[in-house]
Amino acid sequence: MWVKCVNKKCGGIKPLWAFNRNRSKKFGISSQCRVCDNKAAKLWMANNKERRKPYRKSYYQKNKDRELEMMRSWSFNNREKSNKIKAKYKRCNLDKQAALAAKYRFIKHKQTPLLNDLDIKKLDLLYKISDYLGSYYHVDHIQPLSKGGMHHPYNLQIITAKENIIKKDRIDYDVQGIKILWHDSHLKT
Ligand SMILES: [Zn+2]
Repeated sequence: MWVKCVNKKCGGIKPLWAFNRNRSKKFGISSQCRVCDNKAAKLWMANNKERRKPYRKSYYQKNKDRELEMMRSWSFNNREKSNKIKAKYKRCNLDKQAALAAKYRFIKHKQTPLLNDLDIKKLDLLYKISDYLGSYYHVDHIQPLSKGGMHHPYNLQIITAKENIIKKDRIDYDVQGIKILWHDSHLKT
């Protein structure tokens, strides 16, 4: 069975499966084809951003983990676009950025135990190794700082930047990073 799409710009004669179901309509299908339906929906969404905000927020809250993972892998695969968006956000929220950075410094300081000379050396080496490997590697707190983890060499590992972006502050995301077997005798000054 073939149906004509009522959209004047389209007017296509298409098979039944090319139309969405819609019980409120006479024949139980949408009067315009799926392609036109999707276009109209996209347009409506673009024109009603403010109205959709509360719904989007509650949807995000309910599906937080999945949404976050999708956003993170998108931003990894669209680095340039994502960096532009991030830079713009930073420019528009300088005070928020400063507050976040201060909070991070405070937590890091609070959760840094007393370090002896050897610990400081290990900490230093971890960051140096990560630097040496380049921007595709990050130093990661195995137990995240925000979840009470310590800023101590034994809670640090080197993982790929992609894994770090996906992991962020999750504790259920298991990453096997580069483990360093410290031989204390080699580190002594
Ligand atoms: Zn159509």
